[in-house]
Amino acid sequence: AKQRGGNQCCFYTKEIDESLSRKLQLENGLRKALERDEIEVYYQPQVDTFSERITGFEALARWNHPELGFIRPDEFIPMAEDTKLIVPLGEKVLLEACHQFSRWLAAGYNLDRIGVNLSAIQFRDPSITATVSHVLKETNIRPEHLELELTETIVQDSKEAIPVMQHLKGMGVQLALDDFGTGYSSLSYLKDFPLDTIKVDKSFIDAIHQSEKDRAVVDTLIRLAAKLEMNVIAEGVETESQLNYLRIHGCTEYQGYVFSAPLKKGEAGKLLEKGIDW
Ligand code: C2E
Ligand code: CA
Ligand code: CA
Ligand code: CA
Repeated sequence: AKQRGGNQCCFYTKEIDESLSRKLQLENGLRKALERDEIEVYYQPQVDTFSERITGFEALARWNHPELGFIRPDEFIPMAEDTKLIVPLGEKVLLEACHQFSRWLAAGYNLDRIGVNLSAIQFRDPSITATVSHVLKETNIRPEHLELELTETIVQDSKEAIPVMQHLKGMGVQLALDDFGTGYSSLSYLKDFPLDTIKVDKSFIDAIHQSEKDRAVVDTLIRLAAKLEMNVIAEGVETESQLNYLRIHGCTEYQGYVFSAPLKKGEAGKLLEKGIDW
């Protein structure tokens, strides 16, 4: 970059350089990270609003980088998508999550589901249905126990998405619409697609205590899901008062820091052990 003498300019340039070099370092590292098993799966409990039973877990990827430390999925998932590494990465998360779920079932815990996020790139990959079926066989879990979380960008592309969704449904796998209510979501998705679960985005949960209008939206989503005979999971529940509101308004399940952040498998196992009703 040109040196103009001003501190402002140099500082700015340096910052851009640093963020660029971090980006390059991460992009180059991602392939190795997969080989070296630096990608870990964390598990966030999904909880029954009324009984507080853990109904399942959502698998969330974490990257423990040897030099840069812990890297959040918001930073590396988009990179993995750009480089198509999301396909092997997503497969790894799916396999590991299903394996872990199968161990928990074998240990006697009564769980309904393991939720796994699917990126649009994975969903459009022709091998997706074969991958899912292979993982189910390999880990010996019933397809009804696996819930794939799809975003609205996947669903929007309906000509391509519907046959793949129907194929997965035909196998018995559950489908959830993630982050519902964000972006350009349309209510028609809920009736036109074979969905089992709606995950109400955190932004709506945050808004519960803000205004009557925000509450009206949350109430309506919960009731709509019930009418369509879909499960509804509230995401990002952080306070008791949000949780109480959801209980009163008939939201049957939730995820959020008020119960637990995503945990390492061992920690998640301890939580299950604690909750078991002998
Ligand atoms: P998401 O699927 O919407 O996952 C929920 C995110 O909210 C997670 O962030 C979770 O840690 C966070 N969260 C849960 N409860 C609370 C809460 O009470 N308060 C707050 N502030 N946050 C909460 P995380 O783990 O950082 O993941 C971010 C996003 O990265 C995910 O959003 C998902 O879109 C993507 N992601 C994570 N793992 C995978 C993966 O294996 N494959 C794909 N394709 N995407 C993934
Ligand atoms: Ca999700
Ligand atoms: Ca979500
Ligand atoms: Ca999200």
